[in-house]
Amino acid sequence: MITNYDFVFRQRKRRIPDGTKLLLHVCCAPCATYCLTRLLDKFDVTLYYANDNITDYAEWQKRLDEITKLVDIVNNGAFEVQPKYPLKLVVQPFDSNRFFAVAKGLEREVEGGARCEQCFKLRLGDTLRYADQHNFDYFCTTLTVSRHKNSMLLNQIGLALQSDVQWLMADFKKHNGFDESIRLAEKYGLYRQEYCGCAFSKVE
Ligand code: SF4
Repeated sequence: MITNYDFVFRQRKRRIPDGTKLLLHVCCAPCATYCLTRLLDKFDVTLYYANDNITDYAEWQKRLDEITKLVDIVNNGAFEVQPKYPLKLVVQPFDSNRFFAVAKGLEREVEGGARCEQCFKLRLGDTLRYADQHNFDYFCTTLTVSRHKNSMLLNQIGLALQSDVQWLMADFKKHNGFDESIRLAEKYGLYRQEYCGCAFSKVE
């Protein structure tokens, strides 16, 4: 059976109370923009920057700087959707060795293949761990907004990982999410990278 993750997201969002604590794994500022338009009117959102897959430190820092800029835009009331709760940001320290360890033997995989599955598991696992330790209600990721990312796989990984902290099923590429993220990134002058993140995707 194929699950409509966007439908499930909308149903659940209607049912849960305002201020539900959500830890949202964030890959980059452009992807976060559209996801936030769907979340800020309900959830108390904390962005979690855990991206050991971005193997070049300068690039990792640049994407983080843009996310910090987006958080300021949102909290200063300049974003298209007004947050019900201040937007927060937590950063997991840079450690690309952890990514290279899970990608070992999968270096030649194309984007979208087995290496990416391990990469998703690493980052969503990190997100869940932090969410568990800090009493969040839900965890989720901005990754489903990308046309290059398999939303079904991401949701399956999230569901398999969930514990006391529930996985928030979603598919942010629906409703033109990807195009909207490009529009919003241009509107707010946010840097959009030209490759996914790891050294292998940069070559590809
Ligand atoms: S291409 Fe992207 S998702 Fe796949 S392993 Fe590299 S950084 Fe991770």
